[in-house]
Amino acid sequence: MSSCLCRCDAVIASAREAGAVAAAFAPCLPVDDKNIALYDAWLARGAHAGMEYMERYRELRNDPRLLLYGARSILCCAFPYAQTPGRRSPLFSDYAVGDDYHETLRKRLAPVAALMEKAVDGAKTRICIDTTPLRERYWAARAGIGFIGLNNQLIVPGIGSKVFLAEILWTEEADYGTPLPDLCSHCGACVRACPGRALDGEGGIDCSRCLSYLTIEHRGDLPDSIHLPGRIYGCDICQDVCPFNHDPAICLPEFAVRDTVLALDRETISEMTQPDFSATFTHSAVKRAKLAGLQRNARH
Ligand code: SF4
Ligand code: SF4
Repeated sequence: MSSCLCRCDAVIASAREAGAVAAAFAPCLPVDDKNIALYDAWLARGAHAGMEYMERYRELRNDPRLLLYGARSILCCAFPYAQTPGRRSPLFSDYAVGDDYHETLRKRLAPVAALMEKAVDGAKTRICIDTTPLRERYWAARAGIGFIGLNNQLIVPGIGSKVFLAEILWTEEADYGTPLPDLCSHCGACVRACPGRALDGEGGIDCSRCLSYLTIEHRGDLPDSIHLPGRIYGCDICQDVCPFNHDPAICLPEFAVRDTVLALDRETISEMTQPDFSATFTHSAVKRAKLAGLQRNARH
């Protein structure tokens, strides 16, 4: 067995010890032309809605080697957050009911990055979690930890799509994973169930029609045409109807729903003060919507 294989196996074992349900390496190379063109066309249609940050850093997004000098590999990891059916918030998306994944996963991945740096003299790493301009689903699919379904989600076979993606760029060569075939059955359940008609049935999404975008990212009034069917922060419908998510829920302890979040209803949220909001959502992703955004959604 080559030393590359041994050290890659040790890194992947370390990622699993850190809580990843899937981990594999992708080569750190420019994104392929077809996927660059698809992304550019998506932006040109305005399907990213008000998320102007998605237009920025085009060069970095298309070539992850620019994110870390000398990067050769990307370790792609998936961490589960699916809530158990008897303990799901009626108001909040599963991903947002526990601790903020940015902070949690950075802590969990720190020992993995340390191991990667120790593995080879002079090796460097960079942990990327959501905020770096890296095409996370593209690289996860390239590494072979999952495939992208018609619901636009990265789906890990045997686990489902309720996973946070996180990556570690590395200056070393690795034993790269093999992309999976397209395992999405194209049953169309996600497309039919989407309340905003945001999914086009070919893998594309119009964020201006997506309740997840509208309830979390959108600033200002919600369009009158938008109906919020229950949830006021995020939307899990296109994941909940997907047969790949029907296995028992798996969730890291930090991401399990907090009792204080489970107890909330629309009325409590409508009357919440800023100190209540800060206390309830300390170290939580919900802070992104701010109290005013949450109360706007609760009243809609
Ligand atoms: S999150 Fe909800 S609104 Fe957005 S695409 Fe999925 S089902 Fe549609
Ligand atoms: S619901 Fe069906 S079409 Fe949609 S992602 Fe899942 S398997 Fe694919």
